[in-house]
Amino acid sequence: MMKVPFVSFAAMNAAIRQDVLASFEKFFDEGMYVLGGNVAQFEKDYARFNDVSECVGVSNGLDALHLSLKALGIKAGDEVIVPSNTFIATVLAVSFVGATPIFVEPDEDTCNLDPAKIPAAITSRTKVIIPVHLYGQACNMPAIMALAKAHGLSVVEDNAQAQGATFDSKLTGSSGHVNATSFYPGKNLGALGDAGAITTNDPELARRVRALRNYGSERKYVHEMVGFNMRLDECQAGFLDVKLAHLRRWNDERKAIASAYDTGLREVGDIILPKTAPGATHVYHLYVIRTSDRDGLKEHLERDGIGTLIHYPTPPHLQGAYAHLGYKKGDFPIAERISSTCLSLPVWPGMTPQHLDHVMDSIKRYFHGR
Ligand SMILES: *Cc1c(COP(=O)(O)O)cnc(C)c1O
Repeated sequence: MMKVPFVSFAAMNAAIRQDVLASFEKFFDEGMYVLGGNVAQFEKDYARFNDVSECVGVSNGLDALHLSLKALGIKAGDEVIVPSNTFIATVLAVSFVGATPIFVEPDEDTCNLDPAKIPAAITSRTKVIIPVHLYGQACNMPAIMALAKAHGLSVVEDNAQAQGATFDSKLTGSSGHVNATSFYPGKNLGALGDAGAITTNDPELARRVRALRNYGSERKYVHEMVGFNMRLDECQAGFLDVKLAHLRRWNDERKAIASAYDTGLREVGDIILPKTAPGATHVYHLYVIRTSDRDGLKEHLERDGIGTLIHYPTPPHLQGAYAHLGYKKGDFPIAERISSTCLSLPVWPGMTPQHLDHVMDSIKRYFHGR
């Protein structure tokens, strides 16, 4: 039986093998193992890719979010608006700076933050909005930036899942005051380990993040702020530069796979296919369908050798880590409905038409056999 893993790096790795090994050899021989030339080069290249003036490489996506909030001066007593259906890291970053996460429900069609629901959540303590470009689809940044401006708030885009996506032709990670991304291996641009970055057009915010990631120091042994060691790894920066050159093509492959699913799964069972909002593009970090019989379908696909995942099975407000906020089941019904019906199908560069047919045939058999 044909197997279709949830994710495979095989085809991507084959395309970059020689360049990655050459990058490692150069790194190994040169002996500049921390903040050497690779980090500076990748920062330049990623800033150009993302159409921003500044990129600062950091240790991972969670630290990128944390340092963004830190650079904005967010602290205990402040409130930060986050989507109720995001990955936990968005919320953890808010906790790290001592602020309170305020959950706002997404639009149920796009699963992205609904700008119309944000004003009701704004109080005198609100400082920041963190839109998350979930699953790879760009949020409506013009609307969110306009709201932020009207209320004097900062915006930190969580761009971990949407490198290369746009809204009204503007790239995610280029609208917010300071934006965070992740290069976790499975992201659209993934390192061979942990890595992340911030992107911004504000040189002062970039300067602060640059100091904060390096013990709060701009000149050796001079520390103007209480910083961290959250630097982008030099070796990973070299690998990321190799992979960045392939990102557009790999995103196009993801879009082609999504489009094949869109066509092949139309009107199958009670499946709801992902919807892209007018003005937005989607780079399909994840292809997330919804169905009332999610768990049954997931098990059936597993028996057919097809890997799927759930993004995410439990919304942040129902996690043990946030029990102290006192939320209960039913408080964010849209996030809860998404979490109990969503299923992410395999989508990765290198997937073949045979892989796709196997996934779609298996799904059709499940619904026809019921
Ligand atoms: C992956 C991810 C993060 C965290 O990135 P790490 O590099 O794993 O720390 C944050 N937010 C979202 C939406 C993510 O998908």
